[in-house]
Amino acid sequence: MVKKQSNAKANSMLTAVVANQAGEIFELEGYAAVGMAGETLVALMAGTTRSMPFGSELMYLPERHPILYNLLNGKFETLKENPHAPGESLFPVAAFNSPGYVITHNSAYRQTRNAGYLPLFSYGAVGWHRTKFRTAVVLVDPEPRQDLRQMKHEEVLAGVDKMRRQLPVNRLRQHLEKCALQYGCPAGKNFFLGRYEAPLPTARQCNARCLGCLSLQKNTGIPHSQDRIAFTPTAEEIAQVALAHITSVKKSVVSFGQGCEGDPLLAADVIEPAIRQIRSQTRHGTINMNTNGSRPEILERLFDAGLDSVRISLNSVRDNCYDAYFRPRGYRFKDVLQSIATGLKRDKFVAINYLNSPGFTDSPQEVDALFDFLRNFPIQMIQWRNLNFDPMRYRKKMNAVADQGKPIGVKNLLTRIRRQFPKLKFGYFNPPKENF
Ligand code: SF4
Repeated sequence: MVKKQSNAKANSMLTAVVANQAGEIFELEGYAAVGMAGETLVALMAGTTRSMPFGSELMYLPERHPILYNLLNGKFETLKENPHAPGESLFPVAAFNSPGYVITHNSAYRQTRNAGYLPLFSYGAVGWHRTKFRTAVVLVDPEPRQDLRQMKHEEVLAGVDKMRRQLPVNRLRQHLEKCALQYGCPAGKNFFLGRYEAPLPTARQCNARCLGCLSLQKNTGIPHSQDRIAFTPTAEEIAQVALAHITSVKKSVVSFGQGCEGDPLLAADVIEPAIRQIRSQTRHGTINMNTNGSRPEILERLFDAGLDSVRISLNSVRDNCYDAYFRPRGYRFKDVLQSIATGLKRDKFVAINYLNSPGFTDSPQEVDALFDFLRNFPIQMIQWRNLNFDPMRYRKKMNAVADQGKPIGVKNLLTRIRRQFPKLKFGYFNPPKENF
């Protein structure tokens, strides 16, 4: 039976936003925006979405057609053409949300038979409501650490000048200049602005081959977002940059393991002496490592040297799903678990960088495995990051190795974890030790 949605319900639904062939984005009257989690579709409502966070970006998805909710007949429909302008092709629109916001749904679409892979972004659901874009997200970290409004270009330039005078012949300082000024990397900018967390990229190699690696894509046709560091800084160069940050910033963090490098555990030969040099000069500052956690014995050595915290990346806590995405070489998922256990045994701050993909992360199978993991490994923090990867390609890869049931909802997952593990912190950024 065809029925028109009640006004109250239709009013709280977000109006669909779509794009035309020219990439122009507009509202589509008569249709509500739809979010997708695996095979599950939901019409987006004002009450379950937020105003699109500052710094987020809209993208249109070529070779795909949007799934929308027809307000007239109450059905989900895939639209290839604009019903108000026959002959005009329609494309889905997605939001790449700012750091600190976890997506609950992907933009809903069907892809054409020969669609290529989407580039390395996350594709959050978005709609329009009362003069604003709204996205399907949950805020997990309100800290403005990477808020671009607080990164004035002239202040970054002033910081670059200052650091040039302070560290005139340091190649790592030079590399960070390129990150901050050419790539617009917020972590690089924060080093020159003298605030929060400074990056210490070091490693050229990695022993994983993540499908969505941001610094290396071989023969995939997908552009990587940043070039991998092309040299290994010396221990002295690393220590100089780290100390410049620690000695001038309150509650400072310095972090190995950035988006523009391989895995820092493979560069321990310079990192270990660098940490010792830093710690021979100061007890202040938090020395952190973001890593795949593949080598627990090396991590132990780095803890001995003075590493304070570790953040270990996981797309899944199920070994077959982990292997299908990380494609490890020369290590096993159990080594990653061993690294987590080592950090906990050494009383270090241990976080996981848990890569969220709606429909997979909130599937009952992954949820059960995550709860088991959290009971066995009482880590201090989950850093929620949206997986920057083509959602349908990811789903296909994961379905090939494990079952995924009907998702329970990302919001629901976060609530259940908070209820069952009240001491576990949620966030996005590496905290300073003053906040452990
Ligand atoms: S662990 Fe990091 S550097 Fe290594 S392949 Fe994965 S994303 Fe790339």
